[in-house]
Amino acid sequence: MSDFTIIGSGAGGSSAALELLENGYSVEIFEEGINYNNEKNSVLQGLMSLWRNNGINLFHGSPILNFGEGKCVGGSTIINGGVIEPTNEKILELWDNILDENFFLNDEFIKISNEIKEKLVPENQQDDDNLISSSSEILLEAAKKKNYITKSTNLAFNNLRVNHNSPFGCSDNSKNSLDKNYHIFIKNKGGTIISNSKVVDIIKKENAAEKITIENNKTKEKKEIKIKNLILSAGPTQTPKLILKNNLSNFVNNLNFHMNLKILCFYENEIESYKSSLLTHHVREFEKNGVLFMASNYIKPLIASYLNFQKSDNITEFMEVYKNGTIFNCQIQPNFSTANIKKSNLLNKVNISWNLDERDFLKIKKYLKILTELVFISGAKKILLPFENNSAISRSIDDAFNKIDTLKKKHLEITSVHAMSSCSLNNGDKNIINKFGLLKNFKNIYLMDSSIMPSNTGQHPQLTVMTMVKKLIQKNIENKKFKV
Ligand SMILES: Cc1cc2nc3c(=O)[nH]c(=O)nc-3n(C[C@H](O)[C@H](O)[C@H](O)COP(=O)(O)OP(=O)(O)OC[C@H]3O[C@@H](n4cnc5c(N)ncnc54)[C@H](O)[C@@H]3O)c2cc1C
Repeated sequence: MSDFTIIGSGAGGSSAALELLENGYSVEIFEEGINYNNEKNSVLQGLMSLWRNNGINLFHGSPILNFGEGKCVGGSTIINGGVIEPTNEKILELWDNILDENFFLNDEFIKISNEIKEKLVPENQQDDDNLISSSSEILLEAAKKKNYITKSTNLAFNNLRVNHNSPFGCSDNSKNSLDKNYHIFIKNKGGTIISNSKVVDIIKKENAAEKITIENNKTKEKKEIKIKNLILSAGPTQTPKLILKNNLSNFVNNLNFHMNLKILCFYENEIESYKSSLLTHHVREFEKNGVLFMASNYIKPLIASYLNFQKSDNITEFMEVYKNGTIFNCQIQPNFSTANIKKSNLLNKVNISWNLDERDFLKIKKYLKILTELVFISGAKKILLPFENNSAISRSIDDAFNKIDTLKKKHLEITSVHAMSSCSLNNGDKNIINKFGLLKNFKNIYLMDSSIMPSNTGQHPQLTVMTMVKKLIQKNIENKKFKV
């Protein structure tokens, strides 16, 4: 029996495992998904093998929101954009205030964050303003004309000039995902990562987890395993689902997330976007309002899905000139809207629902207009806004603004890939964990992933998840909290 059994091999689970191993504990990780070995995937193969529910996880409400997350060894880090950025100091300060403790905004946290960044970001990619993808360059040129603040980002990629398809598996090895670093270190230190193994039950005895039931994803065979200490690192939606389904708590906190609104743009002539649409730079002019503009993946089959509602002649025309196109993303942190994660006792099913608050709807309209202006400044001749059933193409700013002004909330096409704080590490009455990540009323169940972030990061979360988890493990060790 290992000292620690971890559910999930993504950002949180991998960071926890390595820190525990480096401190002499034994660790086993059970991962529901497959082991990705850099196979070349079609979009469909990638979605089916690496994404939860083939990429379709709906938050029901108005409008419906689709949340994407990884389900494979490495979790969402295998399919993500590889942006490795620290969280803004203002947010870290806010979190310390929430916690009433100097945990986030201190030298040690920043030191750990830098060390993790060094492991993930290849040396030749660090803070180099000149490394720029073709699509980021288009956005940056337009932002310069408006004097907007722009900044390069650290990327876990060793090559930008590739025809990549990282959301569906990066087959050319250019992505430095966790299988290339953390998972090797974990195995070298004697840790195990067991794939295709979904934890379906957590069996309790009094105030402790005693066993877990694991289902093999291929054979559907189930087996029980005894455990000493259990760490839930199943991600922002699955950790709370495991808690509710196993009656470890009868509630969880509201889920925070970022909203993505994407604009498809076409130019007069061929542009280079299709060669490299990695996100190398952000427009950060509106960062303090929780808004970032950036390039987004531009891959042929994805464009086809954007053109769903077009007449077939239009689709043919667009696809013939796909080399003239690109996609930009407006990432917005909602100020008022969150999602509810609730269990229906009748069906023992956990559902996620949300409603877009009117004030966040106004925020979306405001920033969609600003990005639309940038896109036309960059020379786009026609654009498609992220509106459901929107077969109308906008060929001018006035036309696009008119469409935004008359938009109904239920017609927005919003997606999200960053979610957090559904089991928040805060100091309030409604928290389900204490300041050590220990689940209340249990002596051996810990939470270590994005679900415990105190609130919305407003920033790409992976680096902060990994830093927070490592420091939390250290805090438990320093305070002799682990019972092994
Ligand atoms: C498409 C996409 C792009 C993104 N881009 C970026 C980016 O550029 N930069 C950035 O910082 N962040 C990005 N993110 C977000 C970032 O990857 C996540 O915030 C981070 O990985 C969350 O870490 P986690 O440990 O909470 O969950 P995950 O990394 O998702 O890991 C959870 C793991 O638990 C496993 N699991 C769940 N339930 C069970 C179970 N019952 N039994 C066994 N295993 C289970 C899952 O299969 C998964 O592998 C992106 C995410 C996506 C999906």
